[in-house]
Amino acid sequence: MRKKIVAGNWKMNKTADEAKALLSEVINMVKDEITGDVEVVLCPPALYLATARQYVTDGGKVALGAQNCHEKVSGAYTGEISAPMLQSIGVEYVILGHSERRQYFGETNAQLAEKVNIALENGLKPIFCCGESRDLRENGDYVAFVKDQITESLFHLSAESFANIVIAYEPIWAIGTGLTASSAQAQDMHFELRQHIAGQYGDAVAQDTTILYGGSANAQNAEELFARPDVDGGLIGGASLKSRDFLTVVKAAQ
Ligand code: PGA
Repeated sequence: MRKKIVAGNWKMNKTADEAKALLSEVINMVKDEITGDVEVVLCPPALYLATARQYVTDGGKVALGAQNCHEKVSGAYTGEISAPMLQSIGVEYVILGHSERRQYFGETNAQLAEKVNIALENGLKPIFCCGESRDLRENGDYVAFVKDQITESLFHLSAESFANIVIAYEPIWAIGTGLTASSAQAQDMHFELRQHIAGQYGDAVAQDTTILYGGSANAQNAEELFARPDVDGGLIGGASLKSRDFLTVVKAAQ
């Protein structure tokens, strides 16, 4: 049985006091209200991860994730953060290939393959983001495009390594726009991606792979999205910044 996951991607939001407040609210709510089998991954700005670690108890339902890491382990890369650094403070996950990183920082599938390798070598589980633009959705072969993102950044991995990957399908046209993919659109794509994974690694691996949906998922639409058989949870941006909204999304996944 594959894991259900709801991850909160805070992006570049919250001051230190706000971050502490949100962390403690979410962690307490999860402890008190979540009884089912869903893992919550909080991905605050890297600056707050060490503080966040103090709120997270080992073996609990909440894990920590970073929003990015560098593809080298150390060295003269001013301003960057490496996978071993994240691992050394108890971070378990790392979001890689978010469309904002691809768009604003020029991250390519090849570079992401390196980041995936470094993350895995240092015990981090990548939440690998993929997804098409609006133009491609309307005018092109968007299914092939997203499959290629996965092929080029992940299919060099052994099946054993691939077992540590979480996929997040995030159509760019749905991110932060309030324009969610319909649950049918999400399901169709998740099904395609699972088939694609099965083609490379076999059905058992594909069935065990957690595929999250991201893009304006929120307290209102999460239930319907997560009810689809191939949607195993969500990567949540805007709605992860308010504890009650985020909890409602988490509940919808259990
Ligand atoms: P959103 O962001 O929920 O605000 O659309 C999702 C994401 O970018 O991960």
